[in-house]
Amino acid sequence: MREYKLYVGGKFVDSKSGRVEDSINPFDGTVVGRFAVASPEDVDAAVGAARRAFDSGTWTAIPREERASCLKKIADKINEKAAELVELEVLDSGSTVKKAREDISLSARAFAIFSKLATYENEREMTEISKPGFAKNYLRFEPIGVVGAIIPWNFPLKMAAWKLGPALAAGCTVVLKPSELTPVTAMELAKIINDVGLPAGVVNIVPGYGAEAGEAIVRHRGVDKIAFTGSTAVGKGIMEIASSDFKRLTLECGGKSANIVLDDADMEVATDGSLYGMFYHSGQCCEAATRLFINERIYDVFVESLIEKAKRMRLGNPMDPSTDIGPLISKKQAARVLGYIDGGRKDGFKMALGGDVPHSPGLAKGNFVEPTIFVDVENRAKIAQEEIFGPVLTVKKFSSDEEAIELANDVVYGLAAGVWSKDLTRAMKIAERLKAGTVWINEWHLLNERAPFGGYKQSGIGREFGRIGVEEYMEIKHIHVDDGVPRDKRVWYDTVVPGEKVRG
Ligand code: NAD
Repeated sequence: MREYKLYVGGKFVDSKSGRVEDSINPFDGTVVGRFAVASPEDVDAAVGAARRAFDSGTWTAIPREERASCLKKIADKINEKAAELVELEVLDSGSTVKKAREDISLSARAFAIFSKLATYENEREMTEISKPGFAKNYLRFEPIGVVGAIIPWNFPLKMAAWKLGPALAAGCTVVLKPSELTPVTAMELAKIINDVGLPAGVVNIVPGYGAEAGEAIVRHRGVDKIAFTGSTAVGKGIMEIASSDFKRLTLECGGKSANIVLDDADMEVATDGSLYGMFYHSGQCCEAATRLFINERIYDVFVESLIEKAKRMRLGNPMDPSTDIGPLISKKQAARVLGYIDGGRKDGFKMALGGDVPHSPGLAKGNFVEPTIFVDVENRAKIAQEEIFGPVLTVKKFSSDEEAIELANDVVYGLAAGVWSKDLTRAMKIAERLKAGTVWINEWHLLNERAPFGGYKQSGIGREFGRIGVEEYMEIKHIHVDDGVPRDKRVWYDTVVPGEKVRG
């Protein structure tokens, strides 16, 4: 069994309380690794290290190219250790091996992309408003400072990369708290970062519980910005606490994404894509296609085909490459999902598939829930409005594009949406009116670390990825430089020098 200490100030250290916890394999309940649990005192030490690293300039003041090169080295090391990381991600998070391979490779890609973004010029003259003989104007992007990054369990290494990449590219230092449920690959990343030789304290990784270590990060006066990915409920609490000292915030929170299938969609691709959008990682994706709206002209045929295909998805050991659906992260999460299924049933909605735990003996120790499809679900129903974060799809019919848009937008979330149609002009018109940060046309789940990602409404604040995502880790400064305006021609001359000749 692997044992992991906290990574603080460039050293692997025990937690001050000595507390350790086991990380549990969601497939069979075995222990994957034992990790030190960070307390608020450990967080204080980690923030202190990050603060010193930031204030001393060991990271911030070095040439951008050097920061970029460190990020690229991290990307290369992740690729070198990919096989090991894939295995650990499967064991620790219940990701299918297919998903984990993609996650590890995309984590490396994220660091490589942010390495390029780290080389961007962070100061430019605003020639559009500069005026010779009057003023020169400069726009500067400066790293915010110490970032407290808090991440969930559904994409453990990828989430760590999505936080560390832009923060480090911007020149910030970081205290990262992985989820208490999936600390393993984040701690492997700590080893990689240590091997690459980042200056001590630039990255600190402290697994622990949300209410203790997480909240301690949010409350800490030495932290300048919180970058959080997780549930909307926790995001709201974080926003409230962070308001006490106006910490900068980006929040990547929950979703209930609308998936609209028009009557002219390619049926094969749209059914496959809708299944992928919904059931990938057993529905434990923030931007999962959980609300399916189908044009009435194709409704019956589409639903029948969807259910037929869904029945063929294989539940199984996530390590087996033929497995499509793995276990949910924990027994608690499985119980929560089953509670929603029960609620949908009690509310009288027709369940066309699933609704139970699988009864195969080989899956008995795992946190499995069957792929579940409710049809003809009212849009205001609890199962159609609340984020379930498991393999539960609700389906509803619509009669016009206008109605589809209304249904799609009638929800508090706005992370993503999708439209399936062969008519791209028609699909585009719908996409423009959907209140969501990402809209896919004839596709799902494809995110790109060069394009912004984030939520409308209660799905979040701010954007990750691309230059926009890096700027979320920067303060923006305008510098106005006088270009030799004579004293009596200054705009304030009449105001501060009373009695002087008033200019015409
Ligand atoms: P969660 O909100 O329970 O926990 C997320 C992280 O916050 C964990 O590290 C947890 O320990 C920490 N945390 C919990 N309480 C805290 C507190 N009071 N103060 C500070 N930190 C605290 O979410 P989860 O169950 O780990 O993940 C699932 C949720 O994440 C879903 O709602 C999903 O939509 C969301 N998510 C969003 C995105 C996105 O990009 N928008 C991506 C992935 C997951």
